[in-house]
Amino acid sequence: MMPDFISQREKQKYFRSLNEEQKINALNEMIEEAEHIVFLGGAGVSTESGIPDFRSKNGLYRKKDRRFGRYKPEYLLSYDCLDKRPAVFFDYFRKNLDCRTACPNDAHRKLARMEQQGKLDGVITQNIDGLHQKAGSRNVWEIHGSALRSYCVSCHTEYGENFIFESAGEIPHCPKCGKMVRPDVTLYGELLPQRAYEEAVALIRYADLLMIGGTSLEVGSAAQLGHMYHGKYLVIINKGRTKMEGKADLVFHDNISKVMNAIDI
Ligand code: NAD
Repeated sequence: MMPDFISQREKQKYFRSLNEEQKINALNEMIEEAEHIVFLGGAGVSTESGIPDFRSKNGLYRKKDRRFGRYKPEYLLSYDCLDKRPAVFFDYFRKNLDCRTACPNDAHRKLARMEQQGKLDGVITQNIDGLHQKAGSRNVWEIHGSALRSYCVSCHTEYGENFIFESAGEIPHCPKCGKMVRPDVTLYGELLPQRAYEEAVALIRYADLLMIGGTSLEVGSAAQLGHMYHGKYLVIINKGRTKMEGKADLVFHDNISKVMNAIDI
C-alpha cells in the first residue's frame, strides 16, 4: 500500500529514498491505484526499434553528412526548408525519416496491453513512426503528425506511407493536380494539429498518473503538456536527464523497454 502523504515534499522525499527494486514496486502500485493513466512519449521510445532519436549520442543531431552539414537539423525539418529548399528537405526526409519497416518494441507492446486491459487512457506521442498503432494501441494522439501519411498542399488529396519515399524526382508531385505532396508531419515553425493537441490536453488534465518516457522535453509543445499535468503521480522514464525531474515522483534513468517490462500487466 502506498503511504498517505501530508505534503508534496514528503511524498517526493519518500520516493527519492527508494532503491531501484522498490521504485519498480512503487510504479506497479501507482498503476494499480490510478484510474486515468496517460503516457507522453518521444523519440526515445523508438530507439530500441532501430529509429535514431535527435539528441542522444547516436541521434540525428550528431550524424555527420556532408550533403546536409551546413544546415541545422531544426532547419532541415522546418517549414522554411520545405518552402525554400524543397529538394534538400525531401532528400533529408527520405534518408533520415523512413521508418516504414521498423517494428514495435517491448515498450510499445506494453503500452498497447495496458490500453487493452483498461489501464491506459491514451498515448500522446511526438513520434511520427506509427509504432504505437502497429503494436495495437488505438488511443494514440500524434501531436507531430505521421511520416506514414502525406497529402497534396493544393488539392489536399491524401497519400499513403510509400508515396514520398517511392516517387521519382527530387520533389514528389500530386498525380491529380501536379502540386507538391508533403509529409503529414508538424515541421518546425508550424502549428500543432489542433484536434490531437486538444485531445492531448484533455487527457493530461484528467489523468491521475502521467508517465513521461523517451523524450528530452526540449521541444516546447511536449514540455508545455507536461506542465499542464496536475494529477496525483508523475513518473519519468528517460535515459538522459530532463527538465521536469524536479516535479516527478519517480524517475528512472534507464531503457524504457526494461522499465515497461517490469510492469505487472
Ligand atoms: P530527443 O531526441 O530530443 O530526446 C530523446 C530522449 O530519449 C533523450 O533524452 C534520450 O536520453 C532518451 N532515450 C533514447 N533512447 C532511450 C531508451 N531506449 N529508453 C529511454 N530513454 C531513451 O527526442 P524528442 O524529445 O522526442 O524530441 C525530438 C523530436 O524529434 C520530436 O518532435 C519527434 O517528433 C522527432 N523525432 C521522432 C522520431 C520518431 O518518430 N521515432 C525520431 C526522431 C525524432
